[in-house]
Amino acid sequence: MPKRRTGASPLPPIEIAFPDLTAHASGNAGIAYAWTFESPRSGPHVLVQALTHGNEVCGAIVLDRFLREGLRPVRGTLSLAFANAAAYQRFDARDPFASRCVDEDFNRLWTSAVLDGERASAELTRARELRPLYDCVDYLLDLHSMSEPCPPLAMAGRQRKGVELAQAIGMPEHIVIDDGHASGRRLRDYAFFDDPDDVRNALLIECGQHWEAASPEVATQATLRFLRHFGMIDAERLERELEPLPPTPQRLIEVTTTVTIATDAFRFTRPVRGLQSIRRAGTVYAADGETEIRTPHDNCVLIMPTRRPRKGETAVRLGRYVA
Ligand SMILES: [Zn+2]
Repeated sequence: MPKRRTGASPLPPIEIAFPDLTAHASGNAGIAYAWTFESPRSGPHVLVQALTHGNEVCGAIVLDRFLREGLRPVRGTLSLAFANAAAYQRFDARDPFASRCVDEDFNRLWTSAVLDGERASAELTRARELRPLYDCVDYLLDLHSMSEPCPPLAMAGRQRKGVELAQAIGMPEHIVIDDGHASGRRLRDYAFFDDPDDVRNALLIECGQHWEAASPEVATQATLRFLRHFGMIDAERLERELEPLPPTPQRLIEVTTTVTIATDAFRFTRPVRGLQSIRRAGTVYAADGETEIRTPHDNCVLIMPTRRPRKGETAVRLGRYVA
């Protein structure tokens, strides 16, 4: 029987194997689990990152394979990094959500106030180790996955350039315009990535549910298309591995509200799922302590409702289709 938690749905099945990343531990650029390859032909520096969250294995599957196969850029510089490898190594199928991080969320640390501050944690140590790499890349693809089954999402940040990059990649179908979480800044919004006047750019892709069989394929296709967009990948591999895009055009969802949990007693009061649309404004869908929470507008799209509500964290983002 799958383990149940109070207020949480049964554990989703784990359909994919977790690769052994030991062979990649040394790195080749002075940072553990980070690999950088330079082409003799000039071009941008692109970083594809997996394991920003330790239990989001789909990106690690892609990078593990590309590293084992000796993928090299045909121009520019390509870096491949497993960010929170320490959390990944703690993965336990009996408690698979626990290895999202060791001490704290790696993806909420990305302001200089936090990075240059006094605080210490496993994730801050790793963030400070990786920061020099981020500081010299031009384009970042950050591969993630979601707690609950949901169609893949491109998280484009709040700048126009983020949406343009998601559109240039052409997938996934749903692009979310958002400004992140009250609990801390994401890597995709770090410094110049969030500066509208800076050409450097980042894209976060949520490839599906963490452990569903389809997620690594979404991560593969996103990576191939990202590298193709920057002219970094060889034609033979594209010919062999690139799948055609579905005919459905991409749609844009603009986040209107980020619901941050205020009490220790947050709960959804109706079944919710990612990309579900609630038609009427004023519909109660959650309670936070004594407070009822209602949809602020018609046709309200729920983006990644949390599985494990915690005070101070994001319960759900709400948005509306804008294209
Ligand atoms: Zn994630």
